Amino acid sequence: MGQLTEVEQYYETPIDHEDPDTLRELYWGHGLSLRAIADLSPVSNDTILDRMDSFGIPRRDKTHTEPIEVRFWNRVEEGAERDCWVWTASKSRGYGQIRFDGELWKAHRLSMLLHGEDPSGKNVLHTCDNKACVNPNHLYFGSKRDNMIDAIENGKLPEYDGWNRPKLNGEKVKEIRSKYKAGEYSQMELAEEYGVHPTSICNAINGVTWSDV
Ligand SMILES: [Zn+2]
Repeated sequence: MGQLTEVEQYYETPIDHEDPDTLRELYWGHGLSLRAIADLSPVSNDTILDRMDSFGIPRRDKTHTEPIEVRFWNRVEEGAERDCWVWTASKSRGYGQIRFDGELWKAHRLSMLLHGEDPSGKNVLHTCDNKACVNPNHLYFGSKRDNMIDAIENGKLPEYDGWNRPKLNGEKVKEIRSKYKAGEYSQMELAEEYGVHPTSICNAINGVTWSDV
């Protein structure tokens, strides 16, 4: 591998596989294969391929020769049926991503498609709290209500208890705000005391929720 040795003299290894210029230079400048580039980095050649795709670096052979099922499952750490099957390649905001049919897909959405369920126009949600999971047993199509539950979990809506009553009320929010203002408690401590998510405390304090209190 004389060519590789030559490249290694110019690049510190492992190479910065998240730098588009480095990848472009190695691939187009030095003519290295994806596997050779992967050998210089801590990630797999599938990940290098995903990076190049997301940076818009063209490939010498533009067609993906392997079928999508192969490319997909090569990027997944499969486990038992009840376990999370974790995406090991390129991610965006925690969700796996992969190019398929000329488009960048979220991996969990493509997982639905590969299992015969068309996700177009629908939300695909996780029953596990693992965005990188592509186990179809942990995925379902979301309704508006499911999306609301998601929004609550993300702190965009007030939290409710098991009887559909808000966990916080006007009285509590006033207490929380004055305690916080007095500097007696951190938001984290308040979250613990009132049994809600820290984001709910933050939103209540800043008037994102309970703005009428
Ligand atoms: Zn899962």
